[in-house]
Amino acid sequence: ERGLVWFRTDLRMHDNSALYHASTRCKWLAAVFIACPKTWKSHHEGDTLVNFRLACLRELQAQLQNRNIPLYYLEIPKFSQVPKVLRQISQRLKIDALFANAEYPLNEQCRDKAVQDALNEEGTKVEYYSDRTLLPPGAVRTGSDEPYKVFTPFKRALIQVCAGIEVKILPAPRKMLQSDGGPHWPKWLKLEGGRKLTQKIPSQLTHYSMDTAETGVVKGWRTGESAAQKRLKAFSERVSEYQTERDFPALDSTSRLSPYLNSGAISIRQCIHMALSLNDGCWQGGNEGIACWISELIWREFYTHLMVDFPRLSKGKPFKEETEQIPWSYDKDQFDRWSIGETGVPIVDAAMRQLNETAWMHNRLRMIVASFLSKNMLIDWRWGECYFMQQLIDADFASNNGGWQWTASTGTDAAPYFRVFNPYSQSKRFDPNGNFIRKYVPELASLNDKDIHDPPPVQGYPQVICDVAAGRKRAIEVFAKLK
Ligand code: FAD
Repeated sequence: ERGLVWFRTDLRMHDNSALYHASTRCKWLAAVFIACPKTWKSHHEGDTLVNFRLACLRELQAQLQNRNIPLYYLEIPKFSQVPKVLRQISQRLKIDALFANAEYPLNEQCRDKAVQDALNEEGTKVEYYSDRTLLPPGAVRTGSDEPYKVFTPFKRALIQVCAGIEVKILPAPRKMLQSDGGPHWPKWLKLEGGRKLTQKIPSQLTHYSMDTAETGVVKGWRTGESAAQKRLKAFSERVSEYQTERDFPALDSTSRLSPYLNSGAISIRQCIHMALSLNDGCWQGGNEGIACWISELIWREFYTHLMVDFPRLSKGKPFKEETEQIPWSYDKDQFDRWSIGETGVPIVDAAMRQLNETAWMHNRLRMIVASFLSKNMLIDWRWGECYFMQQLIDADFASNNGGWQWTASTGTDAAPYFRVFNPYSQSKRFDPNGNFIRKYVPELASLNDKDIHDPPPVQGYPQVICDVAAGRKRAIEVFAKLK
């Protein structure tokens, strides 16, 4: 058989279901990656994320080359053109079967269904594998066969299913034979409409500003599978401290694996496998740090399953439909000040500046800034969601949408809507010495540990943009009216 592996957000050699199964089934194998910048832009995927993805792809291409698997690259504007193009590619390369790992946001699912139809029509098999999550969406159900809408029972049920299954890591593909009467894979192909399928991954992409400064690093993040594995290994030495240290943004105490998980440079199984092997196979109990980290990984799982069960989440709708009635503010000036970190609330500003400078933000801070925007400022959470998608190197539709809706009380949070994070007390609790604030808001660096959380007027630093307490009260009132 001649197989084609279609890479998307699964950019790794090891433990890649589609790649592994293709390599065991097919005598000859090629791979393809199709960039769709116009669609990516419409999904608000930003420069940093796309730079990171293409850098991971470059490393993958080199590794595949060592196994005699050529990786082709093509840029077309939109998802809607993918079925036709893949059909042409599969005809020209005489492909018998296409292999890919399933992607779950709605547009991705529609694209994949259309690809399947187009290829099946001309006799090419298409196989999608469940690979992005531990269990396929739909596999965790309540007693009455309903999806779970709250995290804790979901987690319990997932662990129950998983505890009976060994988490296995698949090996990298074997080295393919080059000769043996097999195909001579062309260096490039001319497709209809003047498009060119090449083995060159470009350093420029339509609609995106590309980061060519340093190879193998994007905004300070090392790229690719090898960097992901190193990070996992380094984190395995710190994971026992995770529960006690993970909420303090000044400490480097979380794994920072999210960019790799989301581009697929590492798999969820590899993460869970590491955690279980250090915790005598226990999902819960045992070492508290490890159990807590496993729980966080299950949040990712929860939001991905939820997105599949509730397609309205992919259409900009709130999980709790009644929250559509909230009179959200659309004050662009206020929003801009939040986004550049000029709100006058130090912890919020430090967090937003961390996001803008490093393309990543600590989880505790994501909750604080999301709560500040959607509750104290009452600005539509969808603006914040979109800004995060554009800026984050780990932007993931399901986790981002889930996190925003959870914080804005339009989503799955089991806590009542009147829980509004107080940015000042959060700041004192989780950045007690103000070290994190000092790092990102140098204007306040000389303030003492007490003043830094809620500063007196400081030259060059803005006054608070809204009445924080009144904003909280107003949010509670508008939510109460929904009842
Ligand atoms: P660790 O603490 O080491 O956790 C390990 C992994 O578990 C993470 O890499 C991630 O894959 C997963 N995880 C941890 N916490 C969560 C969570 N609350 N929800 C879902 N998965 C989780 N995460 C993203 O990956 N992409 C996003 O776009 C994203 N947007 C968010 C927006 C908001 C408003 C909030 C509150 C959270 C968001 N998160 C998002 C979740 C979380 O903040 C990040 O996953 C985490 O900060 C990544 O850092 P880490 O890899 O060091 O995490």
